[in-house]
Amino acid sequence: MGLYWRFKLIYNNEEMIKEITAKTLLSSSKHPDPWFGIKYTMNLYRGCQHQCIYCDSRSECYQIEDFAEILVKVNAIELLKKELPSKRVKGTVGLGSMNDCYMPVEKRYRLTRQALELIARCRFPVHIITKSDLALRDTDLLAQIGKVYAAVSFTITTADDSLAKKLEPGAPIPSRRYQAIKTLSEKGIYTGITLMPVLPFIEDNEENISTIINRARDAGAKYIIASFGMTLRDRQREYYYDKLACLFPGLRQRYEQRFGEQYSCSANQAGQLERAFHEACARYDIATRMTHFTKESPQLQLGLFDPGTHSGKA
Ligand code: SF4
Repeated sequence: MGLYWRFKLIYNNEEMIKEITAKTLLSSSKHPDPWFGIKYTMNLYRGCQHQCIYCDSRSECYQIEDFAEILVKVNAIELLKKELPSKRVKGTVGLGSMNDCYMPVEKRYRLTRQALELIARCRFPVHIITKSDLALRDTDLLAQIGKVYAAVSFTITTADDSLAKKLEPGAPIPSRRYQAIKTLSEKGIYTGITLMPVLPFIEDNEENISTIINRARDAGAKYIIASFGMTLRDRQREYYYDKLACLFPGLRQRYEQRFGEQYSCSANQAGQLERAFHEACARYDIATRMTHFTKESPQLQLGLFDPGTHSGKA
């Protein structure tokens, strides 16, 4: 995606925020993705202030040199005004694939809110993946878009607030995310959880998984989409391993011995965890797949659905 650089630099608590202009905004895929049913994706920002230690947006393939530098696409709404009405196929617009569209900088720029206003006006469906309760600010628009289709997935990889502060240092704690799920669910907005990644040796225990599910039930989550493992690609792995060395003494060596330079890895006892997960979700009547805006794609037929290992985003 082409970008023109304007280099308006704003220093904010040692964080660098740069305003840029982009050439295009929406990218589309022929078939909606099997997880969330997304046909169009857009990223209003580059880089992410949530700075999760496991984030795979750091991988080389995404060509983001400095993931801590936040680029704001200040012309994003102008682009969307042109691009969205020209789409002949109504398909779900996904926000949050490469960064969290409700990271703190959104409070100032309000690009996500303006994009939702446009999506509502054009009557497109939307799926948002986030770790932030700032999504509550847009409850009115989500309710309006929900007449077509709106889903909000909150990523929760641990229900333990103090562990989350280490793993996802810039994101609101899980307790706040659960509160947001409760509020949105009570307003009738289709809301659930993405339980991914599940970090080996840190989060891959039954207690963590069952606590996440119990609290999801209490909050009224309609679905939990889980993936029991993580990606470990080049720069993502380097960053993650460095953080492990600082935050969890001895764990880096365990990863290196167990996974070496693999590009993805499974949680310990992944099969057992997955069985326990499905049993608990069935007990509480929580779906383990989302209802999508469209079910026409053959990939969405249940028998062909094979999620594999998904990366952690937003
Ligand atoms: S995992 Fe998501 S919220 Fe965390 S840094 Fe990456 S894009 Fe941001």
